Amino acid sequence: MEMVCMKIDVLIVGGGPAGLSAGLILGRCRRLVLLCDDEQPRNRASQAIHGLLGREGRSPSAFLEEARQELTRYKSVSFRRTRVTELRPAEDCFAFVCADGTGGVASKVLLATGIVDELPEIAGIEPLYGISVHHCLYCDGFEYAGRPVAALGKGDKGAALAVMMKHWIPDVVACSDGTEVSVNAARKLKQHGIPLRSEPVVAVEGANGVLTKIKFKNAPDLERAGLFFSTGCRQASDLSQRLGCRRDMKGGVVTDPETEETSVPGVYVAGDVSRDVLLVSIAIAEGAKAAVAINKAFLRRDGFCD
Ligand SMILES: Cc1cc2nc3c(=O)[nH]c(=O)nc-3n(C[C@H](O)[C@H](O)[C@H](O)COP(=O)(O)OP(=O)(O)OC[C@H]3O[C@@H](n4cnc5c(N)ncnc54)[C@H](O)[C@@H]3O)c2cc1C
Repeated sequence: MEMVCMKIDVLIVGGGPAGLSAGLILGRCRRLVLLCDDEQPRNRASQAIHGLLGREGRSPSAFLEEARQELTRYKSVSFRRTRVTELRPAEDCFAFVCADGTGGVASKVLLATGIVDELPEIAGIEPLYGISVHHCLYCDGFEYAGRPVAALGKGDKGAALAVMMKHWIPDVVACSDGTEVSVNAARKLKQHGIPLRSEPVVAVEGANGVLTKIKFKNAPDLERAGLFFSTGCRQASDLSQRLGCRRDMKGGVVTDPETEETSVPGVYVAGDVSRDVLLVSIAIAEGAKAAVAINKAFLRRDGFCD
């Protein structure tokens, strides 16, 4: 493997909306940037991005390709399809190594590495995920008005999701997957006229990505056109943890709200990593905000501003 050793201003780890947005601003600031991305964006199972002004309904892959093309104009920004495997503080900078043999030092680092969603462990769910099985009402709820939908989550999670969904979708059934819901949650379901199916879910069925029915253990099937679920998610990369960046109770990296800088000076984050509002528009905004803060830090360092 050919070893490449680079000395750059900024290493951006992650080329989703957050990392690309930061790359665009830093390119326009004429900063020397390396952007590394191993191409596992969180929404890759989805067919359309919703709620994104100016790009409503664009496929995630087309959106990212277009954004990468826009960056080619800025010659100080290089892009590599690779994973950053090592990142550690060195004297006044950060030393990094990538899986493709690229390595070097960067004055500042932006982690835009995203998160990974945990899919419910149900037979048949993967081919439906992103098309008729979703986790985010803000992303996909609008499309289901007038269609029969289920809200899946253990304990009170599915019930709480079902109650919230009622605003978007009148025909919703809560599924607690073999777990009990609390008296309070059951009362709220009743209040909103939402049926509860508490039997364990064994499978989901559909064709061409479109859900048709939910199958339960020893109980009748439920015909549905869509399923929303409430489970957990985790960081896609452990680099922030290895660098010692402080995290909050949800596992999000804590940042200075004005600069997106973490508790480790010189390390910034943008996008889902901080687990703030998890939307493409917010990831783009946070990437831009971090890039401006990074550029300002360089301007201060070089005596161009206070
Ligand atoms: C199914 C689904 C549908 C969604 N639909 C919508 C929607 O309609 N509208 C909306 O606004 N939001 C939607 N979202 C949320 C949206 O996907 C995220 O908010 C957005 O992708 C966050 O952008 P990001 O740049 O922070 O992270 P990501 O897009 O996840 O990008 C992170 C990138 O970093 C890379 N990476 C991670 N670690 C490393 C490493 N060590 N080295 C190199 N690269 C690394 C990953 O491979 C990935 O390419 C959806 C999410 C899902 C799961």
